[in-house]
Amino acid sequence: MKDKYNRILILTGSGISAESGLATFRSEDGLWNKHRIEDVATIEAYYKNQDYVHDFYNNMKPELWNARPNEAHLAITKLQQEYPAEVNIITQNIDTLHEKAKSKNVYHIHGQINQAVCMNCGHVLETWSDVTSETQCANCSTIGMMKPNIVFFGENLLYMDKVEKLLHTSDLFISIGTSGQVFPAAGFVQTAKYYGADTVEFNLEPTSNNFYFDKHIMGKASQTIPKFVEELIQKIKGS
Ligand SMILES: [Zn+2]
Repeated sequence: MKDKYNRILILTGSGISAESGLATFRSEDGLWNKHRIEDVATIEAYYKNQDYVHDFYNNMKPELWNARPNEAHLAITKLQQEYPAEVNIITQNIDTLHEKAKSKNVYHIHGQINQAVCMNCGHVLETWSDVTSETQCANCSTIGMMKPNIVFFGENLLYMDKVEKLLHTSDLFISIGTSGQVFPAAGFVQTAKYYGADTVEFNLEPTSNNFYFDKHIMGKASQTIPKFVEELIQKIKGS
């Protein structure tokens, strides 16, 4: 581990949101909030029964709207504000807890709950209100083509060009609360390491024997992240 970093890349997963009381989405049992994933998170399901799919995400909005960021989110913001480096966040989470914690440079690679995208023109609508099969695109005026801006199974992740660039140019890569099982995100650490980054994994328990991580720190992110951020800031002050 170095004493100073110039560009820090943080990958966050469901573990960081779990401490704000949000259930783990897309769990491995093939269910998502008690719905079968193939009924609510595939493009086939969307075309077959748009309103059913819209209802699923609309119903999720109040809980995600009300969720509050925890100490881990706030510590990341502190790092962005007080550490003299560019700090970017890639999140697999569809909630907006990083934004609520006032973090910047947040890339939602699985999409986000408060957006819908027009399947006709690509226009992105930002709203916490319900989106339905009647919703009209503000850009191309098409009705019934707004899809929740959530990456469905089989679809490409968002912002991957940007992510690749950040993986190639960051000198510290931090993973927080991800299982490290789902590709391509599970491969990010390998790329970051290949391009010379120090790599640290934060998890509740040892979930992988991923040898691309230099350090594994176990425990609640709301406790381990503030401590780690404080140490990074102190190292800068001491140098
Ligand atoms: Zn449109």
